Amino acid sequence: MTGGPMGEIDAVIVGAGAGGLAAAWRLVQGGAKVLVLEAGAGFDPLEDYGLDLPDWETHGFPEPPGSRWPYVAISAEKAESGAGLESWSKVFGAIAPGPRRRTFGYSHVRGVGGSTLHFTGEAHRMHPDAIQMASRFGVAADWPVSYAELEPFYVAAERQIGVAGPADPGARWRSEPFPLPAHARSYASQVLGRGAAALGLGWQENSLAVLSAPYNGRPPCNYCGNCLRGCPLGDKGSADVAFAADALRRGGIALLTRCQVLRLETGSGDRITGVVFADSKGAVHAARGRTIILAGGAIQTPRLLLMSANSGSPDGIANESGQVGRNFMETLFWSSVGLHPDPIGSHRGHPSDSIVWDFNAPDALDGTVGGFRISPGTAEAGFLGPIAYAERAIPGGGAGHKQAMRDTFGRALGLGAIGEYLPNAQSYVDLDTEEKDSLGLPLPRIRSAPGDADIARLHVMATTVRAMLEASGVTELIEEFGSWDSISASHVFGTCRMGTDPDHAVVDGHGRSFRWKNLYIADASVFPSSGGGESPSLTIQALALRTADRVLAGH
Ligand SMILES: Cc1cc2nc3c(=O)[nH]c(=O)nc-3n(C[C@H](O)[C@H](O)[C@H](O)COP(=O)(O)OP(=O)(O)OC[C@H]3O[C@@H](n4cnc5c(N)ncnc54)[C@H](O)[C@@H]3O)c2cc1C
Ligand code: SF4
Repeated sequence: MTGGPMGEIDAVIVGAGAGGLAAAWRLVQGGAKVLVLEAGAGFDPLEDYGLDLPDWETHGFPEPPGSRWPYVAISAEKAESGAGLESWSKVFGAIAPGPRRRTFGYSHVRGVGGSTLHFTGEAHRMHPDAIQMASRFGVAADWPVSYAELEPFYVAAERQIGVAGPADPGARWRSEPFPLPAHARSYASQVLGRGAAALGLGWQENSLAVLSAPYNGRPPCNYCGNCLRGCPLGDKGSADVAFAADALRRGGIALLTRCQVLRLETGSGDRITGVVFADSKGAVHAARGRTIILAGGAIQTPRLLLMSANSGSPDGIANESGQVGRNFMETLFWSSVGLHPDPIGSHRGHPSDSIVWDFNAPDALDGTVGGFRISPGTAEAGFLGPIAYAERAIPGGGAGHKQAMRDTFGRALGLGAIGEYLPNAQSYVDLDTEEKDSLGLPLPRIRSAPGDADIARLHVMATTVRAMLEASGVTELIEEFGSWDSISASHVFGTCRMGTDPDHAVVDGHGRSFRWKNLYIADASVFPSSGGGESPSLTIQALALRTADRVLAGH
């Protein structure tokens, strides 16, 4: 395929997620002809999200078969000094006993919109210091792009998405205000704000890719709280809504679903000649374009590069540095949920409408480098509907149980902290030598083991979250969950890091391979460090827009 009715294709993009669709949108805007190949399907919110079902609460997202990627996870040994960081539940006891971390998997979506389909819409810029971790703090690696260079691309992404945020920019200076005002806080969030104030912490409105007012023909949020199950309204700026819809309206783009790219093909010089993909029936095709942009995410992009090994590149494409698949970073996470004595209706409202940034700077904590943030965690912990309460908060049955349900529903109050995860040699993605997917290709294998500094940070995260819940009036904790003994990653990064030195990085600051002049990466795999809890999609998209501009400039 060289373009068919589109003529010559300027860019083939592998993956229709956060980065891929942002890059496609910018390229189309610049007049390029783009082919996007997505392994998963497109979703119809009314058909596929299941929010209208009586047992909606028991349906995760995504439900349709084939909307997750198979993978192998190696469970690492728990680090020492984890006492006090055990995941537990009032009803079930220890959640992850034994010497090894329990794998709950990494959450993601295979489909048009990628993992943004079930994100809560946090739209964060990186802390300017958190992208200079090596030169400032002697850990991880520096980003080869400064905050000032990224800032105009943040602005462009925020405008296209319709990000709603507060007037006060804190450490993240801005050249213009957010496109929309911040959301009004839920009642539960106001209660948590009282706890933050009692501890002297700032409880700022969170910046969200969720509309606080009508914007570009899309309606505002109705605060149903179900972002993690897929937004039924289209106010949430998942990449399908915020970028693909506009790109498709403009034309110059073909988006093929259920088309999995199997490998890259190389020529004799310094160019990738094309990609080979299988369609939904298993028929194999080739696609050619002047530029190839990989945007499959931090697990599938290194997998594809490694699977594309050939006689000229025996260790995989773009792997001259040996860094493809290295430096994997997961989400360092702590969550505590308790019961509040008052009926606070904590099942209502946007799941993450406020945030504590006080500990976010890399040097915010004594004794360990790397920061964290805290935000509401009731929805993320799954306490939105009555079934969760019946199963996880109030054991027992009969009339007493019914009464307890009446008394307790809507009183669960959770906080979640996400922190810096420093890259280390024990955390990586490679190819499994035995397990294969339905097309006979090796599955990606994920190994992740937080280091001592991460565990030290996790202790501070847990202590602070518990203190804030107590100060908010929570009298009894009922469940806690954290990364010391469990892997449950929603943000994954770092397996094709960008840098300035071809010996230590896979791509340069524009996402371009050092070896292959028409090969770019535009997804979370390029992050050299994870940040102190910033949600990554806005940064992935700002980088993708920058990459697209570079492609349009024809360098
Ligand atoms: C529960 C949850 C909540 C989250 N909340 C937030 C949040 O509030 N804010 C935030 O910023 N981030 C959030 N995230 C993280 C965010 O969704 C991801 O970090 C982001 O989507 C990653 O973008 P990406 O471009 O790297 O990959 P993805 O968005 O995952 O997209 C990759 C796409 O490429 C496709 N693909 C991969 N390989 C191939 C191939 N070989 N051929 C064809 N197609 C391929 C995949 O199917 C997928 O659709 C959340 C994630 C989860 C799971
Ligand atoms: S809370 Fe708002 S953004 Fe989230 S799913 Fe409901 S309507 Fe969509």
